[in-house]
Amino acid sequence: MKVDLPILNAWATEATPPQTAAAGAIPHVVAWNLTQRCNLACAHCYISAGSWHSSRAELPTDTCRRIIDEILEVNPAPMLILSGGEPLLRDDLEQIAAHASAGGATVVVGTNGTRLTAARIESLKAAGVRGVAISVDSLDPAYHDRFRHGGGALEEALAAVEQLRAQRLDFVIQTTLTRGNRAELERLVAWAAEQGAVSFNLYFIVATGRAGRMQGLPPSENDEVLRDLARLQREYRGRLMIRSKCQPQLMRHVHAADPDSPLLNYETRCPCGVQYCRITPEGMLTPCPYMPVVAGDLRDSSFGDVWRTSPVFAALRAGSLGGKCGRCEYRKLCGGCRARAYAQTGDFLAADESCAYEPAGDVPVIERQREVTYGMAAPETMSWAPAARQRLERVPSFVRGVVTARVEAWARQRGYAEITPAVMDEVRRSLPVDFSKRMPFFLRPSPPPPGRGEGGGEGEGIDSRRRGSGSGAPANQDGGRGPDRVRGQGRGATLPRPRPRPRPGPLSMGDNASEPPTPASHA
Ligand code: SF4
Ligand code: SF4
Ligand code: SF4
Repeated sequence: MKVDLPILNAWATEATPPQTAAAGAIPHVVAWNLTQRCNLACAHCYISAGSWHSSRAELPTDTCRRIIDEILEVNPAPMLILSGGEPLLRDDLEQIAAHASAGGATVVVGTNGTRLTAARIESLKAAGVRGVAISVDSLDPAYHDRFRHGGGALEEALAAVEQLRAQRLDFVIQTTLTRGNRAELERLVAWAAEQGAVSFNLYFIVATGRAGRMQGLPPSENDEVLRDLARLQREYRGRLMIRSKCQPQLMRHVHAADPDSPLLNYETRCPCGVQYCRITPEGMLTPCPYMPVVAGDLRDSSFGDVWRTSPVFAALRAGSLGGKCGRCEYRKLCGGCRARAYAQTGDFLAADESCAYEPAGDVPVIERQREVTYGMAAPETMSWAPAARQRLERVPSFVRGVVTARVEAWARQRGYAEITPAVMDEVRRSLPVDFSKRMPFFLRPSPPPPGRGEGGGEGEGIDSRRRGSGSGAPANQDGGRGPDRVRGQGRGATLPRPRPRPRPGPLSMGDNASEPPTPASHA
């Protein structure tokens, strides 16, 4: 299962001076392939997982805890995607998740769903896991089971979806696109919406791992699919997020159809190495799950050291894009998939040739339209009451800047002198969200620690409210794409650490969570 965080965001462009490019380097999202073991053996698996791999190559629990602490030193509120292989095969998955969530991370799990029992969902929730991504490639068992190399895999995955819904843990449906399921796209999207998924993520093949033997669709067909996705994204706005993964070219179509699309609130470029990275089962740090370029070895180096000093990350943050991506007017909104460029050419800064677009080169670069997008830090310009700041600290780092800016803008317009929880509630109630669904986890703060209210007679965090939670978060569910640059941070900057939080207790029925706004663990 992949948890990829594709469209989140951004790195340097040729138009961006190196020092500026490096300034946004914050690991908002960390994908962690905890194991290469898997009970399935899918044709497209980027990590070549299978049942034959040994657990002996995996990092022990204590080392995982140490690495989590190092990540939290760099970013106290990251999103951590625990994946594999099949992460449910690790008996210590809950221990790892609990350590991360207690420390302040928003934890999600990517799984093929075949081992996701009611008891396991309960233990994941108790460990603070806020969402699960499930892979469903087709509603036709013959196709899904053949693609996944596992008889009965679809039936088990569908049962897992039903169970997640029953136990009120948010989930994402992830589908890998091939010619075999292309015609089923709309049906899968409709089904995901009916099931109550937070998001439908469509993955495009990157020729790495076992997928090195596969060919994705040709560029012209990819483009048609992206156009369809952009249309579906508009049709399902407010009900279901729809995203392309490993194809940031979607943003060209989104922008062309609606330059004011809320999707463009995100920093839409590939975030690898700037706001996103991946840890392999053996402890190597790479820019993204699909890019096997090692930036450092976490068995003998700290996460912070590798994040700050790796030449691989420096190149991604400061390097110029080559070929047509380098001269394309969409390079700030798209920029192509760096993993695909690497798979195709061995150069992660080369053009992404899966794209059908041929830029003329003499068109002005299309700039982002928002002052603050997801992933950016926004300086506080107003006074925040302690209880309001406490709420803000529980918002995942990649949306905190947007929340700050929106709440302050609301308060300023109304002449308020201070941001209080009541002001945040006002903002939340004002959001034109579809209240038939809960706000996805990453737009809500984490649950408050047991026994710690927020003052003002509350005791109920924004996150635990079922209607319209979000503390001034984006205006609808399209608003939470993912990381983006953080302004005002130095290279490899370390964010201020919030107060330590006790481990959250089991999530209540009312506050399930999540959509991995990106990274998928498998796909
Ligand atoms: S894609 Fe996911 S389910 Fe399939 S073999 Fe790889 S890890 Fe296992
Ligand atoms: S390199 Fe490709 S797969 Fe990796 S984060 Fe960027 S767009 Fe996604
Ligand atoms: S040429 Fe590159 S930057 Fe331009 S749309 Fe295609 S992939 Fe994106």
